[in-house]
Amino acid sequence: MPPKYHLITYGCQMNKNDSERISGLLRGLGFESTSEKNQADFILINTCSVRQSAENRVYGHMSDFAKMKKKRPGLIVGITGCMPGRDRNLEFKKKMPIVDLYFPTSQIGQLPRWIAELRPELVNSFDIVEDYTKIMPYRETTRQAYVSIQTGCNKFCSYCVVPFARGLEKNRSVSDILSEIHSLVAQGCVEVTLLGQTVNSYRAPDPENFTKSNPYQDSFAALLWEVGQISEIKRLHFTAPHPIHMTDEVIDAMALPTHVNFLHLPVQSGDDEILRKMNRRYTSSQFLDVIERLRSRLPNIVIGTDIMVGFSGESEEAFEKTVELYKNVRFDIAYIAQYSVRSGTAASRAFKDDVLPEEKKRRWEVLQALMEKIVFEKNEKFVGQTVSVLVDRYESGFCYGNSREMKLVRFLGNTECAGQIVDVRIDRADIWLLEGSLLHDSTTS
Ligand code: SF4
Repeated sequence: MPPKYHLITYGCQMNKNDSERISGLLRGLGFESTSEKNQADFILINTCSVRQSAENRVYGHMSDFAKMKKKRPGLIVGITGCMPGRDRNLEFKKKMPIVDLYFPTSQIGQLPRWIAELRPELVNSFDIVEDYTKIMPYRETTRQAYVSIQTGCNKFCSYCVVPFARGLEKNRSVSDILSEIHSLVAQGCVEVTLLGQTVNSYRAPDPENFTKSNPYQDSFAALLWEVGQISEIKRLHFTAPHPIHMTDEVIDAMALPTHVNFLHLPVQSGDDEILRKMNRRYTSSQFLDVIERLRSRLPNIVIGTDIMVGFSGESEEAFEKTVELYKNVRFDIAYIAQYSVRSGTAASRAFKDDVLPEEKKRRWEVLQALMEKIVFEKNEKFVGQTVSVLVDRYESGFCYGNSREMKLVRFLGNTECAGQIVDVRIDRADIWLLEGSLLHDSTTS
């Protein structure tokens, strides 16, 4: 019987992509995945540190795991991801004495050696991979894939743990990225999302590998162009960009036919003093200038954002400026977070968390209501239009998938639609769903 692993993943898309690499590595060692913790030889949690609640969920598993280890002393329990990454004094580790393996994401490639030391019978032979981004991810789906192009972050926003948890920005080579995409294409992939903490700050370590006729000087724009040349890739997008790196060349490359009609551009606040304290490196008018340049090049672009309410010192007037900016831009979607202090960050040392929890909640509700109103108004405009949908699942007579505007679309269909790109006429709009009818003979791949 092959050994089994159970992998629990918290957090962002980067973490999910790292978990795909872990799966690729463990499968390469002969392990099989199991959804049953009780059947696993190795349980690994890939952790997130963005909020305290995400870290608390990790501690919450420990009593269960302790009981399992009593019954099965050979069980290996591991923790990776952002918690070990930022745990300089091993304060978190002390709270989890039953954990056998505790390592940051960058050391994933050492896993085979550590497993072999703990349970030699589980591993026959192995290679150590020093650069974990070279591990081929194992993906459950073949039509859509996330491809990391960089790890870490150099921006040091004052509230954020990422530069501590994941280190400074490190960019993958153009040749590695393109060869991963070509191997995805060979498996039938048609949609790629390029991932990075500030994905558009990408600087190619091997610019000589860009095609000679590539028209762009900006590395990230040049990378978008290169991926756009792969004819099998029908849809390309990226997350998450930083506003200061939205150069004219990047915006121009987004007009290439492969790029989807959507951009997620975090703003966080509409108040300049709060943006300064957050160390976001732009003012609200600089952000608005990016939006203007985007919309003048791509008039129908759908724009999403991230906003944080209740940051240290956010007065009612400062919050109102965020509301004003929101009304001005009319984002299509926003992920709104209530600020919570993260230990080890500059904000935790320099500023007081002085907005009361009930006030944070009220501000969140104000923006959430505004977002839902605007989303509904914008979605209604899709009624009567035809959108292109990559169908990712079929359930009880209905097909579901995202349009090129990253709107969830549902229509009556069949299993054969799954994995296809089809045209759908929108008949009805809701806040989180567009409902439509399949236009027959519209399959494009
Ligand atoms: S840009 Fe700022 S918020 Fe984003 S990962 Fe880097 S430090 Fe964190």
